[in-house]
Amino acid sequence: MTREIDNVVDNGLCIGCGSCSLGIYQNIGLDRFGRYKATSGLSQEDDQSKQDRICPFSNNSLNEDDLVSLQGREDELRYDPKIGYFLSLWTGHVKSPPYRAQGSSGGITSWLLNTLLSYDLVDAVVHVRPVSQGASRDLLFSYQVSRSSTEISLGAKSHYFPVEMSEVLAHIRHTPGRYAVVALPCFAKSLRSLMEVEPVFKERIAFLIGLFCGHLKSTRFAELLAYQAGFTRKAMTSIDFRTKIQGRDAGDYGYTVSDGIRTITKPMAEVIGRDWGMGIFKYKACDFCDDISAEVADVSIGDAWLPEYTSDSNGTNIFIARNQVIHELIVGGLARGELALDSASVEMAHNSQAANIRHRIEDLPYRLYVEVWRRGWKPKKRTQPSRQISTSRKAIQDTRRLLREKIPVLWVQHEHEDNKYQFFKRLTPLINRYQSLYQPKLPFGHRLKVRLRIRDRVKRARSMVKAAIQRIR
Ligand SMILES: Cc1cc2nc3c(=O)[nH]c(=O)nc-3n(C[C@H](O)[C@H](O)[C@H](O)COP(=O)(O)OP(=O)(O)OC[C@H]3O[C@@H](n4cnc5c(N)ncnc54)[C@H](O)[C@@H]3O)c2cc1C
Ligand code: SF4
Ligand code: SF4
Repeated sequence: MTREIDNVVDNGLCIGCGSCSLGIYQNIGLDRFGRYKATSGLSQEDDQSKQDRICPFSNNSLNEDDLVSLQGREDELRYDPKIGYFLSLWTGHVKSPPYRAQGSSGGITSWLLNTLLSYDLVDAVVHVRPVSQGASRDLLFSYQVSRSSTEISLGAKSHYFPVEMSEVLAHIRHTPGRYAVVALPCFAKSLRSLMEVEPVFKERIAFLIGLFCGHLKSTRFAELLAYQAGFTRKAMTSIDFRTKIQGRDAGDYGYTVSDGIRTITKPMAEVIGRDWGMGIFKYKACDFCDDISAEVADVSIGDAWLPEYTSDSNGTNIFIARNQVIHELIVGGLARGELALDSASVEMAHNSQAANIRHRIEDLPYRLYVEVWRRGWKPKKRTQPSRQISTSRKAIQDTRRLLREKIPVLWVQHEHEDNKYQFFKRLTPLINRYQSLYQPKLPFGHRLKVRLRIRDRVKRARSMVKAAIQRIR
């Protein structure tokens, strides 16, 4: 009998979260495209239904709304179809150093983790930190357990890099205590399901701290950025994907690569990979996920990509409290002057993630429709397959799918070449094709004029070549 989790893996929709590592899929490893994937291990009959319920893309798992309902908290919360249930919405940053300077955005996440620890609401924090040098050649980041403020600060920043949770889940299972876990929406969903299926996790995971999410990158994204800064993958020892550049817009950030001797910072605006919409090296699963704000988390934190905040290069968060204790910690931080906050509206939350909502939520029915047409299987989502989107959005979706499928293959074909000239040469037409979809269409008369002008130039060039040939003869 085919399990739903097998459909997830076989159809390329595994995000590699590692939640199923506790059962049938025992191996989580990087595939040749630099993405974490579950690979089938020993089959344990009694675990089958459990794993089907835990996997965030399994058709036997509950959706985000149902998982919140299961906690029985809907009555205390308000609901919006794009950001889920919420208690309060905020924008702002941490005033007390060093959180904002060290963070990706306003530093709220690290502040909150520290506050939970210092108020003795948790014993440890489970989040993503750089892997210490030399620990692994392929892995630059991993999920780790932090028990002090110094360790928490080591995790600051957004790590656009594959991670999986098998080791930290085993740690939580074997080590009693109260944990706060930082997770992307799909990871948070699998954790919430795991907490329902295995009581030990419900007892020990005291808070789920969600991050907003656009999509996750494979390890190749870090390699692509490193190459454009003049480093080979093997030489790169660290990468910071979110380096703030003073005097520039918050969205106009840079990245920093080091090989232990040289450290180079480059503005993202100068390199290929900067366009988040193009989705270079994103997981396929991300195109089948409509949770932009970790709807099942106790608090969800993102970037306030809003005109009133982006001019401040230091970064500003937008965040959603979905839990009373977290709400009170935030209000307390505001009262003590540790935080500079404004209350936000649902509309601000939507506007701050406008492109994300367009792609992930509004165009999802079309991607589901195409998936059924191409593969005959699709994950169950809170929306139905449909081709009822505009022709221009269809073209954007079709081209984004093409880029998602082709670019990783191109990279693998050229991965051993020190000079990536051929990779970029073959990448350029794909990028041009994508960018042409965003070029404004000129009126017909203007396009005709341009065509006639080009035809004249070609004619003139041809006759000049002919004349030159005759002169030589
Ligand atoms: C892959 C990815 C995609 C994102 N997409 C969006 C988006 O589309 N829109 C948006 O508004 N925000 C997005 N974010 C969130 C945003 O980049 C910031 O992380 C968020 O605003 C918190 O900033 P901060 O200054 O409060 O966090 P910091 O104080 O810098 O702390 C960040 C915390 O997040 C943890 N962390 C970092 N990377 C990961 C990871 N991969 N998995 C789990 N935990 C991690 C760190 O360990 C640290 O504890 C994304 C983040 C990631 C990792
Ligand atoms: S639970 Fe996570 S790692 Fe396992 S198959 Fe599902 S997405 Fe992949
Ligand atoms: S887009 Fe969805 S599937 Fe992809 S990493 Fe983010 S939450 Fe997970």
